[in-house]
Amino acid sequence: MASRERTFIAIKPDGVQRGLVGKIIQRFEERGFKMVALKICAPGRAHLEKHYADLSKKPFFKDLVDYMVSGPIIAMVWEGLNAVKCGRMMLGETNPQASLPGSIRGDFSIQVGRNICHGSDSVESANHEIALWFNKNELVNWESAMYTWIYEV
Ligand code: UDP
Ligand code: MG
Repeated sequence: MASRERTFIAIKPDGVQRGLVGKIIQRFEERGFKMVALKICAPGRAHLEKHYADLSKKPFFKDLVDYMVSGPIIAMVWEGLNAVKCGRMMLGETNPQASLPGSIRGDFSIQVGRNICHGSDSVESANHEIALWFNKNELVNWESAMYTWIYEV
């Protein structure tokens, strides 16, 4: 079912330190997405290097990993229609300078190396990232009582 698409969303260490966890979660809840997994974690360098493996040749890779291991991360899975694409729109552009007000990065951040949140960029990478960050038993399958008020069914 299309409305079962899942995306991996993370609040990076700066988002946690700046007290933005509640606000970011609220945006996904209010939009109508369903929370399937949530944890606070600090998985360490090797894990973050794996998460960003595609970027390992980039000049900013070391700074990026330093940034991501600098504090706790909130890891989440959100489910709903076009969750991946819609999640990316809700986050804004990679560079906060290009992110419109109304997006998470556009409202709460200024520089690319402190852009407070992560979202999967495709369904394929979402599936890969969800498997990297969560065990199967951490993903909770449940029916939202609001489903028929959010979807035409
Ligand atoms: N990043 C950076 N400098 C850059 C590009 C990216 O520090 O020039 C960081 C930034 O935190 C970004 C992350 O690397 O969120 C991953 O980059 P990607 O291109 O995957 O952007 P995203 O998918 O997070 O929008
Ligand atoms: Mg990316």
